[in-house]
Amino acid sequence: MDLGDRISVERGGTTYEGAVMPSRREGYVVIKLDNGYNIGFDASKSRISLLQKRQESRKIKSDMALPRREGLPQVSILSTGGTIASKVDYRTGAVTSQFSAGEIISAIPELEEIANYSARVVYQILSENMRAEYWIELANKVAREIESGAEGVIITHGTDTMMYTAAALSFMLKTPVPVVLVGSQRSSDRPSSDASMNAVCAASVAISDIAEVTVVMHGSTSDDFCTIHRGTRVRKMHTSRRDAFQSINQPPLGKVDYLSRKVETFQPYRRRGEAALELQARMEERCALVKYTPGSSPDILNYYIDKGYKGLVLEGTGLGHVASDWIEGIKRATEEGIPVVIASQCLRGRICDRVYDTGRDMLQAGAIEGADMLPEVALVKMMWLLANQPESFAALIGQPLAGEIAFSTPITV
Ligand code: ASP
Repeated sequence: MDLGDRISVERGGTTYEGAVMPSRREGYVVIKLDNGYNIGFDASKSRISLLQKRQESRKIKSDMALPRREGLPQVSILSTGGTIASKVDYRTGAVTSQFSAGEIISAIPELEEIANYSARVVYQILSENMRAEYWIELANKVAREIESGAEGVIITHGTDTMMYTAAALSFMLKTPVPVVLVGSQRSSDRPSSDASMNAVCAASVAISDIAEVTVVMHGSTSDDFCTIHRGTRVRKMHTSRRDAFQSINQPPLGKVDYLSRKVETFQPYRRRGEAALELQARMEERCALVKYTPGSSPDILNYYIDKGYKGLVLEGTGLGHVASDWIEGIKRATEEGIPVVIASQCLRGRICDRVYDTGRDMLQAGAIEGADMLPEVALVKMMWLLANQPESFAALIGQPLAGEIAFSTPITV
């Protein structure tokens, strides 16, 4: 019996089926059940039968040209890794990023009915390992695909930091075609995987009229529709649910019905061909997002100032507050030319530092209200503005550049 073999284990009148996983205890067998959970058995008290030897996955070249079908639009898929490109590694029992974009396409035959694809591997990483340097490289690659005639671009990406990449691309690229980020919460070798439905919905958006950077992910707990989120308004709000992604402070741009693949929109959006392609792909990496917590030391601000950081976003409480003893640090940063933008730990709603004394003192010290931007979006925008248009920072940080700010927030979001 080898790792990955499918076996059945009978114990106490119940039969369990699953794939053999590594076991740390001598005499114990561990299997991964079809629902994704692992279960261990004392081998001497169980009846074990082999059902099927482990299937080796078909290996396909990582960058590949797939067969063309007449009359379908041309879509580029750039894969960066994450769960959507992952499967269980039976040597370790962990989920690892192993599939290329080409393999994702071949595993989901429905995709071939929607478009012709070219597929490229950009990274094979879990998205916790993304960094500004990779956002820049990715933006350049997306631009190159569009220049070469892609009518839509899909980026497969880990879900954990997808909202940062989506925000970064939203600021770096003005796109004449849809640029869609998609991932999955459960790997494709699990029965409850969302990989296939999310990918089909992403392809439907990639050929649609929505020429913006969007995130397309499961919209409910069923397999019925995906939600289309604007890249600067989206957040992963649950660790494991398939419908983890939500638009914050703005209703979603639309939805895709999984069965009919119909795209429905609820919000104004930039249409296909409306803008010419523009790329401003620089990022100031010496910026930080600092979460204020009660009683935390104002030395935290001094640390960043002394280390030579160029900008700070403070995730304050409620309407946008920090303790009074942090205000001196805000003043020092501002005097040294380091902008301090305030976002809220509440996520929903907008910053208003004119209601309480603390807020007014913060403004007096130079703090800038971050309107209704998500904290991570304020950070990414700061990184982008400081690198591309530092002289306009003060004028533009509070202005909507990629749909990240609105001047009124609907009460339904
Ligand atoms: N840690 C993974 C990642 O972000 C999780 C996922 O893809 O869902 O790459």
